Amino acid sequence: MNESAWRIGKNIPWVVPWSEEEAFAVRESPIFPGLLELTQAERPGVGQPAPAGMNIMRQRLGVIEHRCHVCGEVTPANDRFLFPVVTGAFLKIPGGARYVSHLPPTHTACADLAQRLCPHLKSRYAKPVRFPHDNGFVSPERSAPENLRHVAERIALPGLVYGYYRVFGEGFTRLVRRLRHDQEPIRDGGG
Ligand SMILES: [Zn+2]
Repeated sequence: MNESAWRIGKNIPWVVPWSEEEAFAVRESPIFPGLLELTQAERPGVGQPAPAGMNIMRQRLGVIEHRCHVCGEVTPANDRFLFPVVTGAFLKIPGGARYVSHLPPTHTACADLAQRLCPHLKSRYAKPVRFPHDNGFVSPERSAPENLRHVAERIALPGLVYGYYRVFGEGFTRLVRRLRHDQEPIRDGGG
């Protein structure tokens, strides 16, 4: 596809990084006092998209402001969805484990598009789930995502913040565990 055929929010998600955004710097985190974080150039739509990753500036904005990862607009509380069965992970924290995710949410209309555009979401288990009332809290991600490993190696700053991720509450964590359990393929008992 030539670059003029790309339409952000229509056939390419808003969070996706572009080839002209391969410029990085380090700043003090505006959210986490005392921590340094990586910044990335923001020129969405310029050059070629790299759908496997996320521009870290848009990724953080998406997580903090509940912006839709497909179209970039703020999702209202009653139209905000996640794909927790096939994305995110469980993280041990004091007192238990919580579901965590670095993926921004989507609108319900955009969830449909996300499933068609994202290889990760093509799985038949990828059903959108309503975002919980309990927003949990946001934490700094200090390990570099796959598409930024080369930058991390060059900068070599231990403790540098890359993206942000959201730590969900106990109720949503239980729900995700149950949904994942329900999606386990039923094994043939054989004999
Ligand atoms: Zn949207």
